[in-house]
Amino acid sequence: MKNALSNLQESDTIEGIIYKLLGGIYYVNTAKGSFACKARGLFRLNGTKPLVGDRVIIEPDQYSDDEAFITQLLKRRNQLVRPPVANVDQAIIVVATEKPKPNIHLLDKMLLSCEIAGVKPVIVINKSDLTNDICPLIDIYIETGYKLVLTSALQSRRIEQVTALLEDRVSVFAGASGVGKSSLLNAIIPNLGLKTGVVSKKIERGKHTTRHTELIALPQGGYVLDTPGFTSLDISGISKYQLADYFPDIEKYAGGCRFQDCLHIKEPNCAVRAAIEQNKIHLSRYKSYQMILNQLENERV
Ligand code: GDP
Ligand code: ZN
Repeated sequence: MKNALSNLQESDTIEGIIYKLLGGIYYVNTAKGSFACKARGLFRLNGTKPLVGDRVIIEPDQYSDDEAFITQLLKRRNQLVRPPVANVDQAIIVVATEKPKPNIHLLDKMLLSCEIAGVKPVIVINKSDLTNDICPLIDIYIETGYKLVLTSALQSRRIEQVTALLEDRVSVFAGASGVGKSSLLNAIIPNLGLKTGVVSKKIERGKHTTRHTELIALPQGGYVLDTPGFTSLDISGISKYQLADYFPDIEKYAGGCRFQDCLHIKEPNCAVRAAIEQNKIHLSRYKSYQMILNQLENERV
């Protein structure tokens, strides 16, 4: 009897992904359609609250076609704090060639945030129409191994390359204000209709529009978070000895240092500093490393 009952329950459950959380209702996408779900009290007792991006098991409400209960929260792979979203595969970090000029240190901090959170970064250099020069950013980041795409949302240059990268993945867009995140998202997802331009955003904020976080399902598979975000950097959890591990272009050489706990500042026989002298690591990346290391050392006092 007990077995028969559990079999019945099993066949009635469906796996899905929470794509929206609004007014205490979780909206879950499944192979059998979308369901408005309530979480069973269970989660509150565990202290784990489901987040947008979480994979869940739901049990459809027998009295409704599109309502269900979340009965199980599947293992979360990673989690961002701002915006609060789980299981993010990649962050599309957008910078502009010009207007605004790239803030390299901010970019390095965002890349570090990605590495710490376990989210794969992709660097999109937008507004390629504003410059005829070879983009100096490519020179700086080529050694990191991160994917780089040079786009123009205005002239639809290489938008399809970004679209292809989003396929079957959960992605968030990040980057400073005005670099073109909303314009890129609008170009990638027709009908999204995000407002673009710094001025309109200020007006929007002034109106106190309530914003919620939502994953937009892409026609080719995959999801993208509708709200560009991801600017805060929480590095308090890492030790200064781990910092170089999160800079792939620096980490590559760290194994060759004489001391295992080398911080690559003034230790003798440092393979990282040797690589910098041979131009194998870009100086601006090393400067960012030094600044963040300083920050970590000061926090520890
Ligand atoms: P966001 O703050 O990062 O979301 O940036 P927006 O998408 O709102 O864009 C900011 C401004 O840059 C707007 O005036 C856009 O029209 C403009 N913009 C966006 N992408 C491009 C581009 O590829 N080239 C140029 N020249 N301008 C762009
Ligand atoms: Zn070293």
